[in-house]
Amino acid sequence: TRRTLIAGNWKMNGSLAALGELEAIAAAAAAAPGIDVEVAVPATLIAAAAQRVPALKIGAEDIHEEDSGAHTGCVSAPMVKEVGAQFTIVGHSERRSDQHETSHDAYMKAAAAHRHGLSVIICVGETEAERLAGRAERVVQAQLEKSVPDDGDASWLSIAYEPRWAIGTGRTPSHEEIEAMHAIARAKVRQMIGDTALDMRILYGGSVTGDNAGSILALDNVDGALVGGASLTAAKFVPIIEAGA
Ligand code: 13P
Repeated sequence: TRRTLIAGNWKMNGSLAALGELEAIAAAAAAAPGIDVEVAVPATLIAAAAQRVPALKIGAEDIHEEDSGAHTGCVSAPMVKEVGAQFTIVGHSERRSDQHETSHDAYMKAAAAHRHGLSVIICVGETEAERLAGRAERVVQAQLEKSVPDDGDASWLSIAYEPRWAIGTGRTPSHEEIEAMHAIARAKVRQMIGDTALDMRILYGGSVTGDNAGSILALDNVDGALVGGASLTAAKFVPIIEAGA
């Protein structure tokens, strides 16, 4: 039995003035003790968010694979951990497209996060062209092959399936397509690292809202959601938490 995980990803949004939203989100999380709720915020907000809402698990949206060094503009796992991050996202499709990151980068970052005791969400997902070409499954399998660490374990690692064409578009795959991909992802991870894959949370991400969360979260191999736009306000995120509870 996998505990549902509802994770927010604020992306390049939010300010100190927006942290009140996290207080309302934390209150909803406290009212749903059967599930896990966490929010990744911009690096600038991690310290303030962790101080203001200590009951809520706050994370980073990305980290560098090294601990320190000459990498202008980057932040490392020990840096975000020191100011209160408890998890990080790696391999998000926006990092892959904007910063040209690869699945191997995600692998290195996941390993760095784990070394420092952060839990990790590795993101995978196909483009629309890849889906239309019938290649979605192979693309996701290859991303998992290259990004999931050999010592990956359900105790600290989750996977997020985020089809790129569903992110911020209001479009989602059908329930059948989501379930099929999650089952394929679980089988792939099981082949790589064994039965811990049966306990691993596989989240769906891409245009999740309070309206569609309930039916998506009810799918057998969907163990949570990674939510972008609808995580920015309590008004939109709390219904998703309630759908998962
Ligand atoms: P949206 O929920 O805004 O589609 O974003 C999904 C996502 O990329 C979360 O990481």
